[in-house]
Amino acid sequence: MSSTAYEVVIVGAGIVGAACADEFALRGMRVAVVDRDVVGSGATAAGMGHIVVMDDSEAQFALTRYSQRLWQALRPELPADVEYEQCGTIWVAADEEEMAEVQRKHGYYTRLGVPTTVLDSQALKRLEPNLRAGLAGGLLVPEDAVLYPPCAARFMMERAHKSGTQLVSGSVAEIGQGRVRMSEGIEIAGEIIVNAAGAWSSELTPGIEIKKRKGHLVITDRYPGFLRHQLVELGYLKSAHSVSSDSVAFNVQPRRTGQILIGSSRQYGAEQKDVDHDILRRMLQRAQEYMPGLGSMSAVRTWTGFRAATPDKLPLIGPCPGDTSLFLATGHEGLGITTSLATARILVDGITDAKAEIPIEPYLPSRGWKESVHA
Ligand SMILES: Cc1cc2nc3c(=O)[nH]c(=O)nc-3n(C[C@H](O)[C@H](O)[C@H](O)COP(=O)(O)OP(=O)(O)OC[C@H]3O[C@@H](n4cnc5c(N)ncnc54)[C@H](O)[C@@H]3O)c2cc1C
Repeated sequence: MSSTAYEVVIVGAGIVGAACADEFALRGMRVAVVDRDVVGSGATAAGMGHIVVMDDSEAQFALTRYSQRLWQALRPELPADVEYEQCGTIWVAADEEEMAEVQRKHGYYTRLGVPTTVLDSQALKRLEPNLRAGLAGGLLVPEDAVLYPPCAARFMMERAHKSGTQLVSGSVAEIGQGRVRMSEGIEIAGEIIVNAAGAWSSELTPGIEIKKRKGHLVITDRYPGFLRHQLVELGYLKSAHSVSSDSVAFNVQPRRTGQILIGSSRQYGAEQKDVDHDILRRMLQRAQEYMPGLGSMSAVRTWTGFRAATPDKLPLIGPCPGDTSLFLATGHEGLGITTSLATARILVDGITDAKAEIPIEPYLPSRGWKESVHA
């Protein structure tokens, strides 16, 4: 058994682990990142890359908006393959009841300084002519963006590497008490250990409540100009909130290549990676109800991924109760691409006693800690 000492050892080289590595390295710390697969190959490779401000709770709003601002600041440094495009989101309202939600959201975002525009039926049709006729309207959020997540993760890992961060390949069996023990028995010592293992993080830290939430996506061939904004049905919020049943929602994204990324689905209790054809059929049917033209397009690839879901829909960021060396950066469900930068920033601010831009308290792992499990 050999042991190498670092100030920080991060388990997981997804977008969250990579962002944390970059942030620690920028502050001059000696960092290692351990992953059993290639950088950005977990949920990060499966995600949609929608950088979106959300308002399910004040804490969710604070983290998503802060992180969106950090992405905007990073934008000039992002290489072309990250494909960052500020295309904006349109939340699509099917009827008057959903228009009431458009107005509520508009009021909330306006009060908190996020620009939005309410669209009536004609304005929506002008901006997105391929939506079906008869929709009530929508809310345009022009500062929302899209990017290609695996390349964003790779960019951050490469930047961290240039500052001295080591990438270690291998499977981790156990973490804690200043040690990361690999499956082959090798140990890596770190003053700080960060569990950023996404949907697998509860295998390494059993006291945390993370469930896998499976999602499907489809990407089409190239149809330049068909779609201009990320379009999401307002019913998406109902689907994202459902904590028991399988759900699908209309959620489509224009890629720089002219391809269209079609989502999305949510399933608990589905632990296998294979495509579920019934869910896929329901998801595509839902998409065609909003954009009938999608029905005649060619799909080039379909895949699945696992979101790391917490019971209160907020991530776990900060010290892990019961082990002063262990920190968590996990549980980002469907928002980990958006919130990766803010997660890294507030985690490292907390550890280095720097003044944080937003309070870390709502995301602290201690809020839902199961004492009995870890006692
Ligand atoms: C279908 C779908 C659509 C999504 N769309 C969006 C979106 O539009 N916008 C958004 O913001 N978010 C979106 N998300 C969520 C987002 O993809 C995730 O929140 C994010 O990628 C989580 O990143 P992560 O680094 O925490 O986890 P991951 O990317 O899963 O990385 C975890 C890493 O840990 C490694 N690992 C795990 N266990 C071990 C071990 N024992 N030993 C060694 N290595 C280990 C894995 O190999 C993996 O590389 C979506 C997710 C899905 C599934």
